[in-house]
Amino acid sequence: MICMRSVRKSVLCAVIVGVFGTPVSAQVPGMAPPTPAQTAAPQADTSALSREATGWLADLLKINTTNPPGNEEIAAKYIAGILQKEGIQSELLTLTPGRSALVARLNASAFPDPSKAVLLVAHMDVVGVEREKWTVDPFGAVPKDGYIYGRGAVDDKGMLAANLAAFVALKRANARLKRDVIFLATASEEGGGDASIRTVVAKYWNKIAAQYSINEGGNVFVKNGKVQYVAVQASEKVAINVSVIVKGTAGHASIPTKDNAVTHLAMALDKIGNYTAPVRFTTIVRRYFEGIAPLQDGEISKWIRSLDTADRGEHAARVISDANPMWNAMLRDTISPTMLAAGMRGNVIPSEARATLNVRLLPGNSINTLLADLNKLVNDPQVKLEVQPDAGLAAPDSSLESEFYAAIVKASAEEFGGAPILPFQSTWATDSAQLRLHNVQAYGLVPFPLTEEDIKRMHGDDERIPAAAFAKGVSLMVRLMNSFAASR
Ligand SMILES: [Zn+2]
Repeated sequence: MICMRSVRKSVLCAVIVGVFGTPVSAQVPGMAPPTPAQTAAPQADTSALSREATGWLADLLKINTTNPPGNEEIAAKYIAGILQKEGIQSELLTLTPGRSALVARLNASAFPDPSKAVLLVAHMDVVGVEREKWTVDPFGAVPKDGYIYGRGAVDDKGMLAANLAAFVALKRANARLKRDVIFLATASEEGGGDASIRTVVAKYWNKIAAQYSINEGGNVFVKNGKVQYVAVQASEKVAINVSVIVKGTAGHASIPTKDNAVTHLAMALDKIGNYTAPVRFTTIVRRYFEGIAPLQDGEISKWIRSLDTADRGEHAARVISDANPMWNAMLRDTISPTMLAAGMRGNVIPSEARATLNVRLLPGNSINTLLADLNKLVNDPQVKLEVQPDAGLAAPDSSLESEFYAAIVKASAEEFGGAPILPFQSTWATDSAQLRLHNVQAYGLVPFPLTEEDIKRMHGDDERIPAAAFAKGVSLMVRLMNSFAASR
């Protein structure tokens, strides 16, 4: 092993060697290591690696990649520097000016073999901040009360750093690989468009072609101080923005008109905002609810078990949807009005009023069907609904029978003391949809055990990650890549 020859890295290597099968205490220089056990090796201490990765995370948080404009190239170059120190070549994939993705690979053999390869994915860009609502500098990577604060701590620089740690660990251990492992840092996940993974897939597919991928998208859900369950994303809803456009007669506000565009828009939004689309169970949502039913208290558990029944299903769906807004969004198409625009003076009736609806479709449902239902509901010839460009695409589900899904389930259960591992269809969109459209068996985790309170801060104020949760996430990613990609 390279580690044995490297004095500079000897301390770290001792830890990494431990990770890859032989207990650190068994390492005696000059003696053959004992034969690894046939069963899964116990996970050795990754604390030194996660401390190192915490430094990478802090550096990444300090690089402001707020999208727009993103400027992900700065983060990509930072990662390239880390990889270079490890002797790993990486490549910046230019997307648009100032915006690049980064790809690097560890090959199992002389020729790439996409049919077995696994792709580690995370995005470098972050959403904007309302600085005055933060109690710390959002780009300061401030450590406080056991947390690291910063925009992107959870979404998605935490996973970016954890993926990097797992990737670097394979290299440091000089592990014999049974499949190619590809590291991909994407740009503009939060904004889509030309700098997003769409361009990586369209222009650079041969550099990332893989059978399997792991990305953000799931959760390690903590309640009452322990991991309640791990949700592994295998499918996602489809995001589509729809414009509501209302035309009316412009005029002097001193003489009100019946066709006032603002009034008609408000009436339409009242109906649309209160609309509840019908329930449809997808395979993954059904499996998810089967899995969480035993984890809930009596009454809720009873209603979850009644969800898919003919006689009580409708009432059960109402109870469950009221109990948890995410469950509501998992069961049906949803519509959130998000933007309004009308008028330019207080005393002028505008000729037009507009709103944006953010629609999240269950995969397989049709936007045209939903819009037809909404048009019927609104029933106003002044109101037009138009799908905006850049609509998300529905991708096929990833298989729950694949060897990678099995590996994720096993590694997560080992890491989190046998907590249930459930398949999950996220209400949010991720880069994985683009991969699934290219037949990649793509799965989503955020590998860090987080409470609902911390999950809610993603895209919100004072985003933070518990330092201990980050270390667990590093440990999980190392464990997963060790079991799935390294030969024993
Ligand atoms: Zn994200």
